[in-house]
Amino acid sequence: MYEDDLTLLKAHHLKATPQRLQILHYLQTHHTHPGADEIYTALKRTTPSLSRTTVYNALETLKKEHLIHAITISGSETRYDSRLDTHHHFLCTHCKKISDIELICPNIKNVEGNGYCINEVHGYFKGLCPTCAKKQEQKHESQDVA
Ligand SMILES: [Zn+2]
Ligand SMILES: [Zn+2]
Repeated sequence: MYEDDLTLLKAHHLKATPQRLQILHYLQTHHTHPGADEIYTALKRTTPSLSRTTVYNALETLKKEHLIHAITISGSETRYDSRLDTHHHFLCTHCKKISDIELICPNIKNVEGNGYCINEVHGYFKGLCPTCAKKQEQKHESQDVA
């Protein structure tokens, strides 16, 4: 994995700094769509000298080179994804978890048919995730009994 990331960075003419490699690796092994702060806190444990600015800058560079995707579903915080294929996201408004939604947008062909060249497609869904939806259902049921 590490070797692949090295090649990837080189292909994009980016210096393979340890920070960039660490961040890429973190995103590839944590599919929870973490935010910059979460990545910083996690990497700081093994690299105490790491600064918040370094993490922000590295994320910005990786994003610009399309090596990662930025997701702005929550409106307040940018979250990151190393998955680059077209997929959509679901934000649970209760537990704030972001999940991948496997859907193929049926409109892509229509848009491209009009001469547009699409690089990214983002579909944002919001509501309750299956776990939270179930919990709420149970809560309502127990309230009915009481
Ligand atoms: Zn939830
Ligand atoms: Zn995703």
